[in-house]
Amino acid sequence: LLLIVVVVVLALTLSQKADNLKRTFIARCEKFQGYDCQKIWVAFEQAHVGRDPCNVPMEAYDPLFAEAPFKPACNRMMFWSKTKDVVHDFTENRDCFLTLEDTLLGSVLDGLTWCGKKGSSETFSSGCPGWKDCEKNPVRSFWNGASTAFADVACGDVTAMLNGSITTPFSPTSTFASIEVKRFNSMRVESLNVVLVTRKNAVTNCTNASLRNLQEELDDGIKYNCTEVAESQVLDCSSDPEKPCGACW
Ligand code: NAD
Repeated sequence: LLLIVVVVVLALTLSQKADNLKRTFIARCEKFQGYDCQKIWVAFEQAHVGRDPCNVPMEAYDPLFAEAPFKPACNRMMFWSKTKDVVHDFTENRDCFLTLEDTLLGSVLDGLTWCGKKGSSETFSSGCPGWKDCEKNPVRSFWNGASTAFADVACGDVTAMLNGSITTPFSPTSTFASIEVKRFNSMRVESLNVVLVTRKNAVTNCTNASLRNLQEELDDGIKYNCTEVAESQVLDCSSDPEKPCGACW
């Protein structure tokens, strides 16, 4: 009897977790006007439901990306690597830049975990493979696909906030290096402006070797700039809406 009770309680907790995921998804989606969030949820589900959670290719999300496409925001697009907190503190408070996580799909799925299971029609939010457990897990494939699609529409002057407190701010294994930079097209992108966020103990500046690799990776014709900016300066700008964006760094 005890075993049955334990199994039932466990099953209920798990299904509740999945319901929470859907609730979070829909609630976050509804902050955006003019979209059919139920339809977007269905497109999201079909990418992973009933599949082996280690065999979801990034193309599985194409119907989802078609349902809520990434729109170009020329001169305002912000990419980042290893600066998640500071970059979003900035974009949440100021309108000058737009990260992937400020778009509908990016904001809906940021920080969430999900997967399906072979032979099941459910979405699970626990017991899913981690980022590195297998390459083609649903979460990683989503972010790879979203990064590809977001970088494909990059245009004008593009900004990237990189971390000046680590020795390799442009790491070849990062999504920024392995996907986004490779998609920047000189027909659309005028320049890439690196904001290298530094702290007191900064170990890196704009002459960093990995940043030379970044310049070499860029499509011919895309201009490159790098500015070292203290983290405190970025945070000051976040909290001072009066300050023009152009004066932040
Ligand atoms: P990064 O190394 O800081 O990783 C970004 C995020 O990916 C992390 O915050 C984490 O959620 C996840 N991640 C990466 N490696 C992981 C690991 N080993 N274990 C667990 N989680 C891991 O920076 P990046 O790889 O260059 O990716 C950032 C860029 O790509 C941004 O420009 C953004 O557009 C996009 N992106 C966003 C997310 C996200 O979770 N919001 C994830 C991947 C990529």
